[in-house]
Amino acid sequence: MPVADVLRSQRPLDPADLQALEQALIAADLGLAATQQALQVLRDRSREIAAGGASAMRAALRDEIRKALERPVARPAFTSRPWVVFVVGVNGVGKTTTIGKLAHAWRAEGRATLLVAADTFRAAAAEQLEVWARRSGAQFHRGAEGADPAAVLTDGLRAARARGNDGVLVDTAGRLHTKGNLMAELAKMARVAGREIPGAPHETLLVLDASVGGNGLAQGREFARAASVSGLVLTKLDGTAKGGVAVAVVRELGVPIRFVGVGESVEDLLPFNAAAFAESLFA
Ligand code: GDP
Repeated sequence: MPVADVLRSQRPLDPADLQALEQALIAADLGLAATQQALQVLRDRSREIAAGGASAMRAALRDEIRKALERPVARPAFTSRPWVVFVVGVNGVGKTTTIGKLAHAWRAEGRATLLVAADTFRAAAAEQLEVWARRSGAQFHRGAEGADPAAVLTDGLRAARARGNDGVLVDTAGRLHTKGNLMAELAKMARVAGREIPGAPHETLLVLDASVGGNGLAQGREFARAASVSGLVLTKLDGTAKGGVAVAVVRELGVPIRFVGVGESVEDLLPFNAAAFAESLFA
């Protein structure tokens, strides 16, 4: 039974309701830990809920989920120049697309943006990024295929400084020969960025595909360990994804969701709003 249906019942919660709700929350990809916590809140507030009926229960659950999703953003964007953002995540989750959408949004804000193709492992990745650069009116920097990503990044950041770019979006490899390589490469890129531009990378966004539900979490963990991730982007929420995975990932990785992807076109990236998101889970 979907969460919304469980929440429509008009009488006080009985154990069968709680069980149905537990199943519904797990089916919505909320994850076991967050589900248990939500149920505990409902039990703790059972008197209030019994008095207020289904709407009180919905409100309690919505508050709980909003609180679980709210995390402070480490630093407001564009507080240094150029503002350098690394975008990391497994191949296919929507990194390149997200960069294109962000570049489009920055352009609309009047910011001069450079896209850096630091995934030198796959030639197609740089080509695809170039297409997005054209589409979004951003500048583009790439190196030779197979070049050292840190060297490509260094050149890209120097170019951004010389041209006075406001923002730099860096596409990174989603897979290398080994996990150890990936970690070492991301760490090296972060060091190089900090050497070229103080405080860079100012943000490291981990992109996760919401449509794979809890499976994405295991991949996310690896990247969160390798790069110091400061925010999340949850893509493909327009598909069959149930969205509850947002709660599970924020809980696990401890950083805010910054944006959600809701389609394949350039406009389909929305800033994340915890209250609206919690509301939509029960719509
Ligand atoms: P990358 O390998 O991580 O760079 O992933 P891509 O950016 O190439 O995206 C992989 C596929 O997912 C492409 O077909 C994109 O169009 C698609 N995609 C990315 N974001 C979204 C989204 O928010 N919604 C939908 N429906 N598709 C998306």
